[in-house]
Amino acid sequence: MRIVMIGPPGAGKGTHAKIISKQFSAAHIATGDLLRIKVQDGSEIGKRAKAVMDKGELVPDTMVIEMIKERFHESDAQKGFVLDGFPRTVEQAEALDALLKSLRLKLDGVINMTVSEAVVIRRLSGRRVCLKCGASYHIKNIPSKREGICDACGSELIQRKDDTPETILERMRVYESRTRPLIDYYTKTGLLQTVDGDLEVEPLQKVLQKLYEKLGWLKVSASSK
Ligand code: AMP
Repeated sequence: MRIVMIGPPGAGKGTHAKIISKQFSAAHIATGDLLRIKVQDGSEIGKRAKAVMDKGELVPDTMVIEMIKERFHESDAQKGFVLDGFPRTVEQAEALDALLKSLRLKLDGVINMTVSEAVVIRRLSGRRVCLKCGASYHIKNIPSKREGICDACGSELIQRKDDTPETILERMRVYESRTRPLIDYYTKTGLLQTVDGDLEVEPLQKVLQKLYEKLGWLKVSASSK
């Protein structure tokens, strides 16, 4: 399967992209994660990206498009992918179309997650992440077993610099002006499926499951009817 997830920050793209990618044995490709690795490495790209990311703005299209091109060549991406946080601008969506065309591939669908401002702020301000393995927690809703320590790999959990109230608001502004136009872009292709990102993980997973069945992505199981 080749799926794109779009939605404002805090809609739950990352959480559901991880679940979907396991379900369809596809690579989970998150440009935010790829960029954070470059920042940690201290590479030249990472240094340039860090300042932009800390402010909640978007790094240049050319930078993320190049990263996606490279990532598509890795072996796990050959079986399919779930793109999380890419594309984020119409220019990126056009570049993705051109790239897929050159590879003679097509997208199966675009999942658009809506979310209310209050939920975004509650989710992101309580989010704690593991930079080593990418696991994500919430201080109230999904706490780690030991405070500040990742259950999965034992590394220290951090609060992302861009998960502070001011930067969250900036990221939401950036979403409105740069990313929201993708809803129109993908509506025109007939690929867009919109779901309610205000729902907690399990109820939304059930909604998504029904959607995959409706779209013929999964066989209908007797228990899920
Ligand atoms: P995320 O982890 O998806 O919330 O992304 C964190 C930050 O990385 C964003 O606020 C942007 O600064 C940068 N970023 C991630 N993906 C993209 C993209 N497709 N285009 C531009 N900037 C991006």
